[in-house]
Amino acid sequence: MSIKLPKFTPQAAQLWSLLPIDDKKNVLENVYCSHCKDVTTMFNATGRAEKGSLILNGQCAVCMNPVGRYIEADAFR
Ligand SMILES: [Zn+2]
Repeated sequence: MSIKLPKFTPQAAQLWSLLPIDDKKNVLENVYCSHCKDVTTMFNATGRAEKGSLILNGQCAVCMNPVGRYIEADAFR
């Protein structure tokens, strides 16, 4: 398990490691927050894998509202 992502399950960390660094940045910095009604940055991210897809959950950096991202399995092929 990565030290940087202690809250990722091993499977999620594996999927995450397959993404290019630019994509990782893009994913974490372009999260829609339903409270801010705007694109924001996710922090305190946790990750889990489901059927080859990666599900990220975290908090909006602006208002602390829960935010999430779903990365389809296709992104890792
Ligand atoms: Zn927000």
